[in-house]
Amino acid sequence: MERLKDKVVIVTGGARGMGAQTCRLFVAEGARVVVADVATAEGEALAEALGPNAAFQALSVTDERAWEAAVAETVARWGRLDGLVNNAGVVHFADIEHLETADFDRVMAINVKGALLGIKHAGRVMKAARRGAIVNISSVDGLRGSNGVAAYVASKWALRGLTRSAALEYGHCGVRVNSVYPGGIDTSMGNPMRFEGAARNRGYEGVPLQRIGEPQEVAQASLFLCSDEASYITGAELAVDGGWSAGHYHAALPGAPEALAVASGFRLAV
Ligand code: NAD
Repeated sequence: MERLKDKVVIVTGGARGMGAQTCRLFVAEGARVVVADVATAEGEALAEALGPNAAFQALSVTDERAWEAAVAETVARWGRLDGLVNNAGVVHFADIEHLETADFDRVMAINVKGALLGIKHAGRVMKAARRGAIVNISSVDGLRGSNGVAAYVASKWALRGLTRSAALEYGHCGVRVNSVYPGGIDTSMGNPMRFEGAARNRGYEGVPLQRIGEPQEVAQASLFLCSDEASYITGAELAVDGGWSAGHYHAALPGAPEALAVASGFRLAV
């Protein structure tokens, strides 16, 4: 059975990475998908490859007028709007001392204001229809702190709060709003050096599942939350992070993987 049969869903940042995989999975599950992105060539190519149930929409998520147009064009094309995946996002690497305010503003604008505008404009159509599901793609960095990415962390925590507030404002109108927290995922953002094979997992030894995640593993969480299988779920926070947010191994303590304990060269006698 197709889990999104006849649903119409906008996926922001849909041209690449996790967004692109979400578009592929949603079309395979019966949805009609709007690939919304600033990356026109990649977005058009993906929509073309996905066939008649996908369309590319040029959208910079920080542009409110563009959001109005994107939502209007979606409804004009397919007559309805059932889902929104606020997936577009950017990261900026800098410690706080060297973080330029322009970079902070850009990250906040795309990662937070972009999602807010999506909820505002897509949510209006969903409210009127008294049905819909919105998924905000936060990050494991929206559940904890991290050095070198303070703007990103702040933006993903903001998205977490935005999701909860939206769940309240839209819940009584029949629209569900949830958030997903990916850990390290194999995209240009999560694997910028384009490591391949086992090398991709380097740096994840301390995470319970000890590997990088696949875009499909995040897409499947969004699929569930957009589908009617999640009909009683709103305001929820679903980590798809290999257990990263649950904790990080203390190599020297019991219960850690043997290889980590050996590499640490020190083990607490118990
Ligand atoms: P990616 O860089 O591969 O893709 C991001 C997409 O967003 C691109 O297609 C890009 O063109 C688009 N985009 C950027 N600015 C935009 C704008 N202003 N308007 C519309 N589209 C815009 O990244 P990804 O890894 O696929 O990340 C997707 C989401 O998942 C992001 O929100 C990211 O923060 C989050 N995330 C990623 C990871 C990871 O390890 N990859 C981990 C946690 C969370």
